[in-house]
Amino acid sequence: MTCCEHLDDAIERGAFYFGAKHRIDDGRIVNDISTEYFIKAASSRGFDYYGVNYCPFCGRALSVGLWQAEKKK
Ligand SMILES: [Zn+2]
Repeated sequence: MTCCEHLDDAIERGAFYFGAKHRIDDGRIVNDISTEYFIKAASSRGFDYYGVNYCPFCGRALSVGLWQAEKKK
């Protein structure tokens, strides 16, 4: 499903969120980038979601937006 087992593991543990941006309803998105992958961190009100374009573990491109941007080059 994902690029590497570390990311799979992080999603399973709830440290990482994978899914549509508009489905996030228990926190706020910190940075507005086009991605479906977010680092999830507890904050004073719910959670903070940090969008990421690359896997922090293996470095591969994750987001659909980035794939499209790279295709246009
Ligand atoms: Zn990875």
